[in-house]
Amino acid sequence: MTRLAIIGAGISGLTAAYAVEQLQAEGLSAEIDLFEASDRLGGVIQTARYKGLAVEMGPDSLVDRPRGPVELCHRLGLGEQLVGVSATAKPPLMYDGSGFEPYPAVETRSFTLAQGLDQLPKTLAQTLRHTTIHLRHAINECRMSPDGWHLNDVDDPYPALIMALPASRLGPLLRGVPVDTEWVVQIRHQSRAIVAAAYDGDSFSDTSLLQHTGLMVSPDAKLGLTALTWLSSKWAHLSGSGSIICRTFWGATGQNPVDWSDAELRSRHEDILTKLAGPHAPMVWMAVARHENALPQVPSLFKWPYPDSINPEVPYLGFVGPYRIGPGLSDCIAASWEEAYRYADWARQLAMAERS
Ligand SMILES: Cc1cc2nc3c(=O)[nH]c(=O)nc-3n(C[C@H](O)[C@H](O)[C@H](O)COP(=O)(O)OP(=O)(O)OC[C@H]3O[C@@H](n4cnc5c(N)ncnc54)[C@H](O)[C@@H]3O)c2cc1C
Repeated sequence: MTRLAIIGAGISGLTAAYAVEQLQAEGLSAEIDLFEASDRLGGVIQTARYKGLAVEMGPDSLVDRPRGPVELCHRLGLGEQLVGVSATAKPPLMYDGSGFEPYPAVETRSFTLAQGLDQLPKTLAQTLRHTTIHLRHAINECRMSPDGWHLNDVDDPYPALIMALPASRLGPLLRGVPVDTEWVVQIRHQSRAIVAAAYDGDSFSDTSLLQHTGLMVSPDAKLGLTALTWLSSKWAHLSGSGSIICRTFWGATGQNPVDWSDAELRSRHEDILTKLAGPHAPMVWMAVARHENALPQVPSLFKWPYPDSINPEVPYLGFVGPYRIGPGLSDCIAASWEEAYRYADWARQLAMAERS
């Protein structure tokens, strides 16, 4: 039986634990400790609720790719909750500061979960059988010895460790570890603040913009706003709700919107809606989320520095997250499966070495 530690219980860490557990059926045997600094699961996946409607305060779109989030939802029994983009919604637009243009969107099939994307981390956690989840347990120290990984004050070293932390948190942890860390340092991050607001159905006199799923905003517009989503137009299950639900995303390059107060964010949100969609009745509900350094800006020439080959004679170290394959949930999930297979190879080689 191998002991595996995973640090971070966002979608990457939870999927890594799930994938390792699924591989147990193929002869692998591991006890997992999953450490999470905060008091909740899911990381940037956060769902607020207005009149029983799920309003996403982080990601809202699940892109359907092989071994991606849609497949994972089916595996977890969440398939019936998957809903697609409304057939009546018009595609997103691009705003450059002076006018609206069609946004050259990549054709993808997107879904969301009717009862909220927070169902995904919650159900993943409920499915885990060989994993102990330690909430409010930040790992601030990590040291390697021939016996394994020493984390904070945990007595027993772990022979294997998977880092499922944002790259912005990796630097300090890797300081005492004999691995290449130059690639982490290279990654810059952007932060986002999200304002979600609900309006009564007749609040806007001009509804032409509201028929689109949303807007991408060019940095040339110099508004601080990066995007806007009309959630109630975009998703089929929200389109008949009688409410208008809109999200604005704040945090252009060089700005730190997570420092802005709720009052400032509310005022910016209302001003921008008046500018873009015209006069409207005041919001009837608002929620705010702050995602500090949550969007890694991976350099275009970035090459993943770790080879697939592994050495069973040294403690195992793996990495999962949006900097590895790509930034989306589907990339994070794919990276976690990739890492689980790599870990399984290592564990099998270790078992063989111990037997011989
Ligand atoms: C605003 C926003 C909108 C997005 N929209 C979409 C979308 O619509 N579709 C899509 O596919 N992708 C989207 N993404 C990207 C996607 O959501 C993320 O890439 C993905 O959720 C990252 O998951 P993660 O588990 O790697 O990291 P995180 O979600 O950041 O989780 C990392 C976890 O590690 C924990 N942690 C940090 N430090 C420590 C420590 N020292 N010890 C223990 N635990 C620690 C954190 O508390 C957190 O829970 C969006 C991202 C953002 C920020």
